[in-house]
Amino acid sequence: MVNEMTEFHLGLSIRGALRWGDYEMRNALKWIKKDGGAVFASVSELRGEMAEMLASGIEMIPFAECDNWDDKKGCLGHEKEKQCDTSPLPLQPV
Ligand SMILES: [Zn+2]
Repeated sequence: MVNEMTEFHLGLSIRGALRWGDYEMRNALKWIKKDGGAVFASVSELRGEMAEMLASGIEMIPFAECDNWDDKKGCLGHEKEKQCDTSPLPLQPV
């Protein structure tokens, strides 16, 4: 169920990214990392990796650490922790 208590992580559509030109791809080299944090050596290496991900059924990659990620739909949502306890205070006779 989706309501205001649910938040979502943003992600990148690989299908969309594969349409980027070389300029956008070179920019993406600065922030898209391999598993484990290593950088891609070149635009063609990054493109190759994206094509492989798509071929293996991965459509979306998360921008942030996400423990409820769907490789096709992206973040499935996280129930936010309640900020404050809204239960009524017990009534105390004075
Ligand atoms: Zn998430």
